[in-house]
Amino acid sequence: MKLINEVKNPKWKKYFKHNENDIECKHCKYQKADDSIPREDFKFTTMNMKTKQKTTITISQITLDYDDNDCIRGWYW
Ligand SMILES: [Zn+2]
Repeated sequence: MKLINEVKNPKWKKYFKHNENDIECKHCKYQKADDSIPREDFKFTTMNMKTKQKTTITISQITLDYDDNDCIRGWYW
C-alpha cells in the first residue's frame, strides 16, 4: 500500500500524551484513527446498477486527509 500525503510525525503525538484516567483520551482516539489506515493492498468491488456487472479493483494507493492536529480525518483513492 502506497500512502500519499503521509505525515510521519503527527503533531498530536506531541500534543496529547496517553492519560489512562481519561475515558475520552485524545491520544487513544487519534491512535485508533491512525490504526484504521489500511497498510496492505485490498480489493474493492463495485456494481454497475444498470448492467449489474461487478468490477473488482485492487486498491494499492490511498491519499490521506488530516485535520489541524495531523489526526487522520479520512482517506480515499
Ligand atoms: Zn490514551
